[in-house]
Amino acid sequence: MKSAREQVAEALARIEERNGACNAFVEVYAEEATTRAAAIDERVAGGEDLPLAGMPIAVKDNICTKVGKTTCASRILEGYRSPFDATVVGRLEAAGAVIVGKVNMDEFGMGSGTEHSVYGPTGNPWDTTRVAGGSSGGSAAAVAAGMVPVALGTDTGGSIRQPAAMCGVVGLKPTYGRVSRYGLVAFASSLDQIGPLTRTVEEAARVLGVIAGEDPNDATSSTRPLHDFVAASRETPWNLRVGVVRGWSSAKNHPAVDGAMERAKGVFRAMGAEVVVVDLPHAEHAVSAYYIVAPAEASSNLARFDGVRYGRRAEVGAGEGLEALYVRSRSEGFGAEVKRRIMLGTYALSAGHCDEYYKTALKVRRRIKEDYDTALGTGEHGEGARCDVLLLPTSPTPAYPIGEKGNDPVSEYLQDIYTVGVNLAGLPAISLPCGLAEVGGKELPVGVQLVGRAFDEAGLLRAAGMFERASGFSGVSAPGV
Ligand code: GLN
Repeated sequence: MKSAREQVAEALARIEERNGACNAFVEVYAEEATTRAAAIDERVAGGEDLPLAGMPIAVKDNICTKVGKTTCASRILEGYRSPFDATVVGRLEAAGAVIVGKVNMDEFGMGSGTEHSVYGPTGNPWDTTRVAGGSSGGSAAAVAAGMVPVALGTDTGGSIRQPAAMCGVVGLKPTYGRVSRYGLVAFASSLDQIGPLTRTVEEAARVLGVIAGEDPNDATSSTRPLHDFVAASRETPWNLRVGVVRGWSSAKNHPAVDGAMERAKGVFRAMGAEVVVVDLPHAEHAVSAYYIVAPAEASSNLARFDGVRYGRRAEVGAGEGLEALYVRSRSEGFGAEVKRRIMLGTYALSAGHCDEYYKTALKVRRRIKEDYDTALGTGEHGEGARCDVLLLPTSPTPAYPIGEKGNDPVSEYLQDIYTVGVNLAGLPAISLPCGLAEVGGKELPVGVQLVGRAFDEAGLLRAAGMFERASGFSGVSAPGV
């Protein structure tokens, strides 16, 4: 077992060596991390049992840490320092983990390629001319490049799972309410969840066990009991029923993604699982509903950034007034994609359009949730297909070239087709590496996604662990790592 000091020194050396190529870290806390590691070694030497002793962790830049800055990769939060730690950060540190730095993201989590960042894009460690996925692209790249074993990401519509798939790592989005959002800068409060990106299912289970659970500071955090997630990830489930969705046509997918889905079905069948076909009749409307609900919530959440209370304040001349300060701070501070979302959301909520857009989207959201309930045999729809998990692609394409979709919002939004429904339904899901495919002359990782029942992360991790052991696809390193 390596000491905390050794683990942290190793991570810092790798960041030094590899971060230049992919721009994953936006800040590194070498001194603080080294001091903390020494303190942890002392506590361990004194007989304390710390479940994550010395584990170096990267934190997405929208999660508050007292150390360093928290900017959500936005100009409007330039220089902002949080006076407190997010609950997840406090819990990780109490378990002996060491925060080594903050990682890049799409501004406020809005994007699928970590291209909309004030720090510039994050390159995929498998091919640095391609995106690392988003919005937790920095988290995924940091793990895939071997800089840290674990990173925290956040997932509002796929932002943990999609970059995990594109970088060949494991990404777990917990059930809505499983992990406290206290100290997460809100994007869309009814959808946001924090979760781990790791090399293996067991590591994801270990981190979930530490960060999950009720928090008096987040009224939406659940009081449901936690399970031994690590033990679950090591078990092999009997009679596993895996649902694949009818009619999610391969026409929308890159052939490498269809190839991965076939491989995944083969792995489950070879393990004796039953693979059945299910219907999610409203799933095709998930992107439309999500791109009303998420911007609507964002337009309200982002109203607090006014140039007065947080971060960057624009210059205004004497006598120009408060209104000018607000307008200029927001005009200069937010990037183009964030402005687009604020406008979409404000319009969808405005008098005269709210019924047509926002309320309709909420009705579609309910239908989508019922579809998942039917397929998973939960809720009022317990008579459905009763699958233990659903197997879906994570993303319709492997990592695409930087610049290809960043200026084409609709094509970027369509990246989210397989992930946003899970957030609308509030369910847990995990993206798992499912082999490599040659794309554009290079080998790129492709992921698949398992969706579980609400608060049944144990069942989800059981199926994921079994898949990982049978497939041997996890833990494959990016070239040169
Ligand atoms: N790509 C989606 C969006 O742009 C999801 C983002 C996320 O999960 N934070 O909204």
